[in-house]
Amino acid sequence: TIAVNQLSKTFGHHPVLQEIGFEIRQGERVALIGPSGSGKSTLMRHLVGLTRANRHRSCCVHVLGRDIQRAGKLVSASRVERCRTGYIFQQFNLAGRLSVLTNVLVGRLGRMPRWRALLGRFSAEERAMALRALQRVGLAELADQRANTLSGGQMQRVAIARALMQEAELILADEPIASLDPRSAREVMDILKRINEEDGRTVVITLHQVEYAREYCQRAIALKQGRLYYDGPIAQLTDVRLRALYDNAGLDEL
Ligand code: ATP
Ligand code: MG
Repeated sequence: TIAVNQLSKTFGHHPVLQEIGFEIRQGERVALIGPSGSGKSTLMRHLVGLTRANRHRSCCVHVLGRDIQRAGKLVSASRVERCRTGYIFQQFNLAGRLSVLTNVLVGRLGRMPRWRALLGRFSAEERAMALRALQRVGLAELADQRANTLSGGQMQRVAIARALMQEAELILADEPIASLDPRSAREVMDILKRINEEDGRTVVITLHQVEYAREYCQRAIALKQGRLYYDGPIAQLTDVRLRALYDNAGLDEL
């Protein structure tokens, strides 16, 4: 599903990612961890094609069968291609004044005929599908409420329902639980785990708290100062290695 090779990124003179390489197969559930500033979000942005990598002959970023960074240039994707990746941010990116249901329906726009998407006219079938997606994240009863009346955890669950509407095969979540209380964090992680296990969707989550990574993911990819520090079963990420990962964090940031 994802194959990254020789990915480097420099902002000014500051190397943020250095020769990153890894593969993620379909159906995996992977935690992306590492201290603040280690490059997790930057890596995520490369995977969605929001950031251009350094030009390098052997750099490649393959996502869902497409080479999205060819020779240091972003390759644009069709509307349907874009739907195949669902992106969930730390800051709940919902349209606050619109209803919960409409926020979920928005996930369908890329898969609708263009004229109907422009008019924002959804079919009864699409509405039923959106309700089912809301049911899956446990929010069907809030369908008609405005999105900005929800709690943070509920907003994240709406964002997941929207990704379900996209029929996203790959879910990339960047710190989805960072601003949530433990209970809401658990609800969100439970749902991410469920859509991975039940539907076989690939899920990649950046996490600050290693305990959640331990509990919810099988594999960890750890970055330290822009380099790949660890890639393997999370069970084998020992306390010693974890301490080394988070020690001296940020010393070289400036
Ligand atoms: P956190 O855990 O705090 O979210 P992170 O691992 O996600 O951190 P990034 O946000 O990827 O880290 O940032 C890595 C480094 O790249 C930081 O030093 C940051 O200042 C720098 N950086 C990120 N984006 C830009 C940019 N657009 N321009 C310049 N520097 C940037
Ligand atoms: Mg980040």
